[in-house]
Order: sequence, then structure tokens, then C-alpha cells
Amino acid sequence: MEAEEQQPWKTDFYLELPKVELHAHLNGSISSNTMKKLIAKKPNLKICDHMTMIDKGKKRTLEECFQMFHVIHQLATSTEDILMITKDVIKEFADDGVKYLELRSTPREENTTGMTKKTYVESILEGIKQSKQENLDIDVRYLMAIDRRGGPLVAKETVKLAEEFFLSTEDTVLGLDLSGDPTIGQAKDFLEPLSEAKKSGLKLALHLSEIPNQKKETQMFLDLLPDRIGHGTFLNSSEGGSPELVDLVRQHKIPLELCLTSNIKSQTVPSYGQHHFGFWYSIAHPSVICTDDKGVFATYLSQEYQLAAETFHLTQSQVWDLSYESINYIFASDNTRSDLRNKWNRLKPKRMDF
Ligand SMILES: [Zn+2]
Repeated sequence: MEAEEQQPWKTDFYLELPKVELHAHLNGSISSNTMKKLIAKKPNLKICDHMTMIDKGKKRTLEECFQMFHVIHQLATSTEDILMITKDVIKEFADDGVKYLELRSTPREENTTGMTKKTYVESILEGIKQSKQENLDIDVRYLMAIDRRGGPLVAKETVKLAEEFFLSTEDTVLGLDLSGDPTIGQAKDFLEPLSEAKKSGLKLALHLSEIPNQKKETQMFLDLLPDRIGHGTFLNSSEGGSPELVDLVRQHKIPLELCLTSNIKSQTVPSYGQHHFGFWYSIAHPSVICTDDKGVFATYLSQEYQLAAETFHLTQSQVWDLSYESINYIFASDNTRSDLRNKWNRLKPKRMDF
């Protein structure tokens, strides 16, 4: 806080920096304001703030973080809830200077309200459409997520649903995410549906190597040549990574989605200074700074850029390049890429400290 007060321009720089957010889970991105609205609708659940958000300086285990999602799911049970959440999350990213956002979420059904997986997805798409009609300066797309917990059958259903929406939504549903508790399920359960999705033209963003000692699984997923990797925390570590895995990722230039605060608060990385962003950035590997779950981890994308810059001593010009290059790794078409590059060029500050 002190540093911010001494150098207010620095905070403005990160907020005004146009940004791309490629790794944001819808339910984990719910802000405390939206959470209050959801809690007020369901007072009988007796849920309070600390059950859905990890405050500054606090940590949880990865397992506890996944438990928090169960609490959040109890609060977001109807299509109205999902629409409100989607619109609020998009507005908050736009307010933080995000110009292009890929939201990801697992289609969920809820017997008590009659919400089906299909109407869940339609509510997200409606939220995206309404935000566009309100002229928010942000381009939003959707990645359908496969939760590992569901196993191979649910994964197959999700791929089918994604294929349907991929064909009918004019470039809004762009790909698939594989996520959820990395200790649950086996890689082989998901290889077939994921490669089927790839054949249909859906892009793949896979959470990989989030926890130690998953070398075999990581290798199997990498053989699919995913379009982006979420976290990849242990790829370059002696616990579960290897130089061969790193070489494979480098050879195919598979971009990494890196989420600093998420990894610190869920304790898969011991400190900001030891975050693997340092390694991948030092070898100039495509890396995109993302939030993961801005609500749960009480962060926002401007702050993540600032943390990366301050931890790894990046100049404003290097931070600008990091944001500009992230446009290369979006799943939308070349036209969108060139629109975004034009926007970045228009917004580029005349002076930056080099
Ligand atoms: Zn994630």
C-alpha cells in the first residue's frame, strides 16, 4: 500500500494497460459484491464471506480451495443467478482494463431450479450478449469446461455440447478447458473426448502439472498438443517435471497461462519470487498473466501484472510487451487479433520508463 501511495502513477499504469484475460473460471471470479447479492437471496444457507474468498495474506490448501467451489455452487443455482454472475464478472473485468476475455465454466444442472447444462450455457451466452449490447469495451468468449470429477462419460457429453454451441454461436464458444481437482481422475479418461474435440476445431486449454509427481499424466496430455497450458507449475521442477517435458512445451511453443496469486494462496508455489513465471519469462516462452479466480483469490488482473512486474523487475515497456504479446495466444480469429493490436497501438502511452 505504501509503495502505491508514493507512486500513484504506477497503479494507474497497470489499470490503464489494456489487457487480455485467458484463464478465468466464472464461478471463481465472482466478486464480494456479487457474492453479497447471492448470499442475500439464500440466507438459509448461512454462508459468509470467508467461505468464498481468501483474504490478503491468507492461504488455503488446494483441497480447501476446491471445497470453496462447492459452497459457491450452492449459491449459484438458477439461470437468473448465472446471468447476473456473468454480467457482473464481465463488467468488473472491463472496469479493470481487460479488453478481451475468455471465460470458462463447467455446465451444471440443478434439479431444484430446473436449470439444465444447456440452459446454464445459454445463460452465460446471454450475459455475454447483453454486455455487448450495453457497449462495454470488452470482447468476451466462452470455453466450456470439463471437471475431472465427472469422469469420461460427462467429459464426452460436454464435448458434444461444446460442439453444438461451437457451430451455432458465431465464434463465442471457442474451446474446451480441463480443470477441477488434479488429484481426481486419470489422464486416460479424458484423452479420447479431448482429441475428438480437437478434431471438431475446438481449441484446448488444459490445466497441467498443477501438483507434483504427475509426470506420466502430463506427458499424455502434452501428446495431445493442447493449444494452451493452465499453470504448468511443476513442468520445470524436479518434483514431477523434467527437461524433456520443458523441451516439448518449448518445441511446440505452447503458451502458458500463469496465475501468481492463485498459486501462492493455494500453496502450490511457496512465494512470488519462486513462481515459475520467472523461469518461463527468462527463456522468452509465450506466457500470459491471468487471474484464475479473481473472486476466490481476492485479486484482479491489473494487480497480477503489477505483482509480476515488481517481483521480476520488469520495466513498463516489458509489461506492455507482455500484454501486447498475449493477443497472439487468444482463441478467437486472426481478425479479432488484428482489431486488438490496433486497439493496443491506439492506447499505448507516449512515454514509458524503459
Ligand atoms: Zn484454473
